[in-house]
Amino acid sequence: MAKSFAIVGAGVSGLTCGVLFAERGFRTVIYAEKIGQQTTSGAAAALWFPYDAEPVGKVIPWALATYKVLVDLAAEKRPTNAGKLDRLNRSSSESGVSMIELRQYCRVGKASIPDWAQPFVISTSPSVMSSEAETSLTISGSVFSSGFSINVPLMDTMIYLDYLANRFQKAGGEINSNVRFDKLEDVDPKFDLVINCAGIGARELAYDVDLEPHRGQVAIVPKIDKMKCAIVCDDAPLMYVIPRTNDCVFGGTNEISDNLEVDSETTKTIVVECSRALNIDEPCVLNERVGLRPFRKSGVRLEREKLRDGRTVIHNYGHGGSGFTLSWGCAENVFEIADSSG
Ligand SMILES: Cc1cc2nc3c(=O)[nH]c(=O)nc-3n(C[C@H](O)[C@H](O)[C@H](O)COP(=O)(O)OP(=O)(O)OC[C@H]3O[C@@H](n4cnc5c(N)ncnc54)[C@H](O)[C@@H]3O)c2cc1C
Repeated sequence: MAKSFAIVGAGVSGLTCGVLFAERGFRTVIYAEKIGQQTTSGAAAALWFPYDAEPVGKVIPWALATYKVLVDLAAEKRPTNAGKLDRLNRSSSESGVSMIELRQYCRVGKASIPDWAQPFVISTSPSVMSSEAETSLTISGSVFSSGFSINVPLMDTMIYLDYLANRFQKAGGEINSNVRFDKLEDVDPKFDLVINCAGIGARELAYDVDLEPHRGQVAIVPKIDKMKCAIVCDDAPLMYVIPRTNDCVFGGTNEISDNLEVDSETTKTIVVECSRALNIDEPCVLNERVGLRPFRKSGVRLEREKLRDGRTVIHNYGHGGSGFTLSWGCAENVFEIADSSG
């Protein structure tokens, strides 16, 4: 196996690979133009849920492997001042990962529960969906026709991306930001193996015309105290409400576009639709974020290739709307490929 690894990219894919390699004792350095909050990963709602990524036959096993790791992270509670473990506070895990009830709705017809979701089902009963006792909020009955709910991990990106970066550095990893490569061969030749986690940047870096920017915009609003579950409806218009540790994410959009500028009209539409569904007054907007989901038409690219200088690169990009959901499963797969590369 190679002895030193350079990872291009410091979003969730690059950082997760970094943690995995560094903690297994390999010299690993991350190079990235942007890190953490500035990346697409920093704009994500970051619920575990396979969405807008192909092919299903690979996506689901990667997602399920990731689920297991995230469940463990959610259970690692931060010690309280008294030195006791706080198991009651959902947001107290050091990693920013918590388990949350996700209510998946549709506006028309009957929501069908995918096979992979069966083990995580909490409720299939529409009456529970609108129960005030369950949500502590009245989910407007006129908005949705049906739904189901499942127990899933939620990564609070404001905490989780820093957690990954710190964990990587603690294991001896090094992060170099503000480094932009024109081609993968520009990575320092002292590294035996390069791991390409460039997200949508792989269009230029790996000359990949199959990558398509699926633009997403979200509004960050103040924490809604009564909001105890996440709500998603992916009938058009896509709509979701994700309560985080210190705020709440209202979403969203999914359109093919490279435009990274915030559109204030879109924010307004998102806030109106989410407030209507929750039956609450429209909250103020604390922040607006835009990210480009790196969707790859022929599926997530996770494979080895030879660079022109003879070195091996392992590509790990094209996760679309599921970068967090697939992160640990894909990182483990990257490791297996590196291990078999001799
Ligand atoms: C609004 C929105 C909501 C989302 N919600 C979810 C969700 O709930 N759950 C989920 O699983 N996923 C979600 N996603 C998708 C998820 O955010 C992406 O799949 C994920 O962030 C991709 O991560 P990545 O690390 O591969 O790429 P990125 O986060 O884009 O990171 C790419 C890295 O590569 C670097 N880079 C690129 N090109 C170069 C270059 N030439 N030289 C040097 N460095 C370079 C960048 O600077 C960056 O560090 C959402 C996305 C959006 C936009």
